Amino acid sequence: MAEARTPDEVVARAVRATDLVDLDGAVADCFACPRLVAWREEVARTRRAAFRDQTYWGRPVPGFGVADARIGILGLAPAAHGGNRTGRIFTGDRSGDVLFAALHRAGLANQPTSVAADDGLALRDTRIFAAVRCAPPDNRPTPAERDTCAPWLRREVALIRPTLRVVVALGAFAWAAWWPTLREVYGVRPPSPRPAFGHGAHWSGTAAPALLGCYHVSQQNTFTGRLTPGMLDDVFARAKQLAGVD
Ligand code: SF4
Repeated sequence: MAEARTPDEVVARAVRATDLVDLDGAVADCFACPRLVAWREEVARTRRAAFRDQTYWGRPVPGFGVADARIGILGLAPAAHGGNRTGRIFTGDRSGDVLFAALHRAGLANQPTSVAADDGLALRDTRIFAAVRCAPPDNRPTPAERDTCAPWLRREVALIRPTLRVVVALGAFAWAAWWPTLREVYGVRPPSPRPAFGHGAHWSGTAAPALLGCYHVSQQNTFTGRLTPGMLDDVFARAKQLAGVD
């Protein structure tokens, strides 16, 4: 089975992935959400004027980072003209500029910029992934699309489980997406009621990674000052402390 075209095929292909390279390849060959497949391909075809001379990736965007990550960063979904263009998560858009500058200040990235898949960017102790792997219209996946894509996230977390110590959820969507992952991968019943998302929110269990809340690095948040570089620095300092990263 080369391509996943139904929710059942996503489940079957995800559990078969033996390592991150295998998983990343399988993710990129997923066609299980008709609306998102149509959108990602239309964006890739029509393009934004500034990128008219570029060939868009136009496929699902796999996770990025090291296989022995202690820190996971969970986002919502790729950006239409960012990850969907470059093929790498948070790469080629303003959100990525803010995120990778912060990771560089924290010593978790070798450079402060992320402009293209071949730009030499490397992470330390960190892996970044999204709850939904295809760019959705208006950044809003449907609940069904979120659930269809969840097996990719679960398998990715399962593969880095031996080292993973903390997950930074960027925004309320990612925060909410973590709880089913906690149950499926770690066999841990999510707390009830669920802890509310907020910037700096923190949940810790004994048999699973800690969860830290962070406002999403969207332009809406960073341009308005709702999320500042200092606030991001505080979150990543806390994540490093919880993960035991120097
Ligand atoms: S959103 Fe996820 S499940 Fe849906 S087509 Fe993209 S990669 Fe596949």
